[in-house]
Amino acid sequence: MKDLSQYELWFVTGSQHLYGPEALAKVAENSKKVAAALDRSPLIPTVVRFKTVGETPEAIRSLCLEANGDASCIGLVIWCHTFSPAKMWIGGLSVLDKPILHLHTQFYRDLPWSSIDMDYMNLHQAAHGDREFGFLCTRMRLNRKVVVGHWEDTEVHERIGAWTRAARGWAALQGSKVCRIGDNMREVAVTEGDKVAAQSRFGYSTNGYGVGDLVERVNEQSEADVDALCDRYCDEYAVVDSLVKGGDRHESLRDGARIELGLRAFLEANDAAAFTTTFEDLHGLKQLPGLAVQRVMADGFGFGAEGDWKTAALVYLMKVMGDGLDGGTSFIEDYTYHLHPDGAKVLGSHMLEVCPSIAAAKPALEIHPLGIGGKEDPVRLVFDVAPGTGLNAVVVDLGSRFRLVVNDVDVVGPEEPLPLLPVARAVWNARPDFKTSAASWIHAGGSHHPVFSQGVTAEMMEDFATIAGVEMLHINERSSVSEVKKELRMNEVYYHANQGFSFAG
Ligand code: MN
Repeated sequence: MKDLSQYELWFVTGSQHLYGPEALAKVAENSKKVAAALDRSPLIPTVVRFKTVGETPEAIRSLCLEANGDASCIGLVIWCHTFSPAKMWIGGLSVLDKPILHLHTQFYRDLPWSSIDMDYMNLHQAAHGDREFGFLCTRMRLNRKVVVGHWEDTEVHERIGAWTRAARGWAALQGSKVCRIGDNMREVAVTEGDKVAAQSRFGYSTNGYGVGDLVERVNEQSEADVDALCDRYCDEYAVVDSLVKGGDRHESLRDGARIELGLRAFLEANDAAAFTTTFEDLHGLKQLPGLAVQRVMADGFGFGAEGDWKTAALVYLMKVMGDGLDGGTSFIEDYTYHLHPDGAKVLGSHMLEVCPSIAAAKPALEIHPLGIGGKEDPVRLVFDVAPGTGLNAVVVDLGSRFRLVVNDVDVVGPEEPLPLLPVARAVWNARPDFKTSAASWIHAGGSHHPVFSQGVTAEMMEDFATIAGVEMLHINERSSVSEVKKELRMNEVYYHANQGFSFAG
């Protein structure tokens, strides 16, 4: 994963020359205090740097151009302390290509009832200054988040923090690379898509590699490195007896370790943020990569199985967005149902490649046969996913545009042990209920390959969708199938009208 500590938000305050230097000095002083408070907030996971008070069209435009050219700047937090005639902002905002958060706040929380005079009123004008600024953003049809409340409130920090994570994800996605090892699973529709449109819309590129490129890296790993990695496995996981040194399957563990070392070398050599594999193209690999994929995903790489490059990019994005939060993020699959009348549940899993960042406890490292792929038995991490709230998310390519689908879920765990199911397992209730969730997801065209996260929230996903300018359908506890169908039809009109005839917007 990229070094996320390089990123910062720029705090910019709107004002004008009308009030004179004394008032402007006060505006700058107060703005610095607000920016410093946001910078200190543990809920906002990046540096917040006070940049300037925008007082003239020229200064505002030059600031926006500077933001565009600075890779560390992930977005602008803008607040109008006083009135700031918004025509001054047209030149700047029309060239700005960084995300915007409009913070609608006021320096003092309470009115000083007994001492308030017109000087005070002139200095603290966000109530109308921010509305002037908001009008212009709406008139210019700018995608942005508006956060309302006093700048010292925890709730305000939470709203800004969620957007910061989305803006950070957006920044990391720009120019990132998805390596597609092999093509997608033959005849599968949903893992296909328009890579040119995806690059134009989301900023990441997807390019193909032969599995031989990976095999070459696997085969050049040294025996000593393979043994050292096997020792690390024994430190980190509950390794079954047959796989440890001296066990009758130890060579299979060594093969798994060799694949992991080769995969890491391949990803590094290609500057990859994410990758895909396909079990239909494994020539030269002894096993379908299971353990290796699980472990590199845990280190922040995006992954999609069966050539699913859109999901691979989404895993990477959500890992960046959720970095530092308690819950993990993984590629997963809606696998099998429990259709009991007292409450249907979904068993989420995959044949191997689920990230241990969502494990409830120390994973077991095991070996079992796998019918798919036609290779030797693959080693894999086996675990249950921790109970608690989470979400599933997918990006759908509708042919002319992209749709993000998000569904809130509650992981409940299996009702009984699953002794014969040697993979990672997540059992969840989907909100608002199984039938509404599944019907809505299917109407939306959502794939069976969601990204599951217990750290990233629907608010962060919505903020990302706003930055990217794509539709987001959020299936949640208030959803009904008929409302979802209406929303999908409305969105069809809006997003097509909004992007005109352009493929990628
Ligand atoms: Mn799959």
